Amino acid sequence: MKAVRRFTVRAGLPESLAELETLATNLRWTWHPHTQDLFAAIDKGIWDRLGDPLRLLAEVPASRLDQLADDESFLGHLAQASDDLRRYLSEPRWYQQRRSELSGQGRMAESIAYFSMEFGVTEALPNYSGGLGVLAGDHLKAASDLGVPLIGVGLLYRSGYFRQSLSLDGWQIEHYPVLDPNGLPLSPLVEPSGAPILVHVAMPGGRVLRARIWKAQAGRVPLLLLDSDVDGNDDDLRGVTDRLYGGDQNHRIRQEILAGVGGVRAVRTYCELTGHPQPEVFHMNEGHAGFLGLERLRELMSAHQLSFDEALSAVRAGTVFTTHTPVPAGIDRFPVDLVQHYFGDGALLPDVDLRRVLALGAEDNPGMFNMAHMGLRLGQRANGVSKLHGHVSREMFGGLWPGFDTEEVPITSVTNGVHGPTWTAREMASVGMDLDDHGLWELRCQLRKRLVTEVRRRVREAWLQRGASPLELAWTDTVFDPDVLTVGFARRVPTYKRLTLMLRDHDRLRALLLDPDRPAQLVVAGKSHPADDGGKALIQQIVRFADEHDVRHRIVFLPDYDMSMARYLYWGCDVWLNNPTRPLEACGTSGMKSALNGGLNLSIRDGWWDEFYDGSNGWAIPTADGVSDPLRRDDLEAAALYELLGSQVAPLFYDRTDGVPRQWLAMVRHTLSSLGPQVQASRMVEEYVERQYTPAATAVELADAEGFRAARELAAYRVRLSGSWPHVRVTNCELSLNGSDTPVLGERVSVRASVELAGLTPADVQVQAVIGRVSDNDELFDVVTVPMNPDGDGRYAAEVSLPHAGSLGVTARVLPNHELLASPVELGRVVFAG
Ligand SMILES: *Cc1c(COP(=O)(O)O)cnc(C)c1O
Repeated sequence: MKAVRRFTVRAGLPESLAELETLATNLRWTWHPHTQDLFAAIDKGIWDRLGDPLRLLAEVPASRLDQLADDESFLGHLAQASDDLRRYLSEPRWYQQRRSELSGQGRMAESIAYFSMEFGVTEALPNYSGGLGVLAGDHLKAASDLGVPLIGVGLLYRSGYFRQSLSLDGWQIEHYPVLDPNGLPLSPLVEPSGAPILVHVAMPGGRVLRARIWKAQAGRVPLLLLDSDVDGNDDDLRGVTDRLYGGDQNHRIRQEILAGVGGVRAVRTYCELTGHPQPEVFHMNEGHAGFLGLERLRELMSAHQLSFDEALSAVRAGTVFTTHTPVPAGIDRFPVDLVQHYFGDGALLPDVDLRRVLALGAEDNPGMFNMAHMGLRLGQRANGVSKLHGHVSREMFGGLWPGFDTEEVPITSVTNGVHGPTWTAREMASVGMDLDDHGLWELRCQLRKRLVTEVRRRVREAWLQRGASPLELAWTDTVFDPDVLTVGFARRVPTYKRLTLMLRDHDRLRALLLDPDRPAQLVVAGKSHPADDGGKALIQQIVRFADEHDVRHRIVFLPDYDMSMARYLYWGCDVWLNNPTRPLEACGTSGMKSALNGGLNLSIRDGWWDEFYDGSNGWAIPTADGVSDPLRRDDLEAAALYELLGSQVAPLFYDRTDGVPRQWLAMVRHTLSSLGPQVQASRMVEEYVERQYTPAATAVELADAEGFRAARELAAYRVRLSGSWPHVRVTNCELSLNGSDTPVLGERVSVRASVELAGLTPADVQVQAVIGRVSDNDELFDVVTVPMNPDGDGRYAAEVSLPHAGSLGVTARVLPNHELLASPVELGRVVFAG
């Protein structure tokens, strides 16, 4: 028999256990061991199998619940957990503390909306595909811990991302199990009558896309997820939120319109319904949610009679854009025709001029609409996700700010972090740093052993799925060895991550795995995008190698990488391997999670590792950066990898005194104490608060005050600037050395310039002296800039202390100046002397 409909029945709880419902639906349990213990105490067997409180409550026999309803010790534990959650949800935390310290200087937001196409909070809510989603989940959790008033906004996918299994010959197979939102830790937003609240988004041809709003609660942070699978939608529109990253461009733009435009409407509704303050700051986690800015333009234009440009000034003030893609090919783009199709008839965003919309996403190719460019044009503040990625992004998007040096491009960086309480093994979190060498080693061995047990279980499962008979699978009980150096490599499988670099030389890899004295074992996992046959072929190569009888006890490919598997890998691996093609890994976070558990990173210096590798917290695989032939580059880097593993990593691991590897443990200790605090998502979220959210909220307050006075003035200023700018000139720039012919480093010199303002006032501009080293063809570099003061009559002067010895050059430049600009570079306008 096959069911024609699925539905989920929630357990009815005895009165005295009612609080279990709250504890099960607030996702804080995912990072709170005490609450997990409470659920495990209900039924250890079910808990170990499901790891999901709601499903546990649905499965556990009613008789067991009745028994617990009178169990004093359980009720005590329950009361304690409930009290703890209540306190966690209400007490002042870091953000509230910060606000009292900051009083007067800058304004901290009352409410911040964080938009992302995926959220990986827990495997019990599988609404993510990989790094971007897990990062978003960690962002919410850390914000909750810090008391940052964030609201998450995204889509709820009926099938989430796919589940992966393997065919007998190692080819990836995708499954899309259908999720019932009623069985997930979600509640619908409803009218007082109980009817679900729907957001409406206009589609071409007079159609309407409706979506209901589900709310998950991650500690203090609500997460709103839109779901188009509702009665009343046409069939094709019901499917808009069917899958994450499935479907064509048309499917994708509908998803992004729903997430952006519908997402803003959902937040508005949620705040009206609950009295939660409306967000001042909107954070786009990647460009996918960029349409949110258009909806906010529409709102301001219609509610306050602002022009497009005036509204744009206000929207920009409150928008933060984070880019995650260092590869131009990875940027989200749509054919202009498609954007025109959805926005052209004026129904979706009445009064917002299509030409202005198209201009926001313009790029070199006139046929394409670029979501990252739109993010940068809608966001006054933008950042990449590691220092190196910030630099790469400034280069990649530098064209939007012509006339400026790469390092002046207004894209900063906030290095990603990971949520410690989620990713750190419980024993490591509680005692890790206090243990002596023997204790720490014992703990590391225990975590490795736990991984080995999980590997054996999963290898057996995988073979059963591939069609093996249990009779042939006795060997899986002895796969892996709890005492062998264990290396992990798990990630999605785009080309740049080079899943198969380790297979470059089968013989060398085999020799490392089978070394009689110092063997290594390698656990590999990862999903390929369903449409990427190239990626699937790479997985197949790994699987085929791992299937070979002589090595299959030392290398495994585990299908269906997700958060529930990842945890065991981060806990148990001694070494975390990462070998992307530099600089294509924007940040990478899996190595951070390994580090929290005392894993040592063995990685190409890319993303986060480029800034955090310090020579004794792991190993840097040398990169062949200059080598342009990719195959030769792979050969060189693979050879370096084998060399490091064989001659440094393994010898250190197996060098024992009194049964413990002292030097290895010194590196583990150093990793825990020095990297531990730096890789935390709390560090990341604090940086977002200090460097992005608070300045944005301050700018919003200024822009909106007195009926949007500053926003209106900035718009008028930009119009004036457009008229005058082509005629602004620096007619003269001179340096006087104050007497000496050969000045010395640090000596003060005077720079003078004459500027024609072409109708602008001195307050409209900033004139700067620029002084730095000079190349043979008079290019300036390593410059310092110093503001010049007006002397009247268009003359400007500054005193500068000489920043370098050697050949220097000087020039002067004119930049825009307005109180609502985050930086004078922002408008991409500059005039130089000469
Ligand atoms: C952390 C994590 C990722 C991201 O890892 P990267 O190093 O950024 O590739 C992907 N998937 C899961 C399940 C994770 O936990």
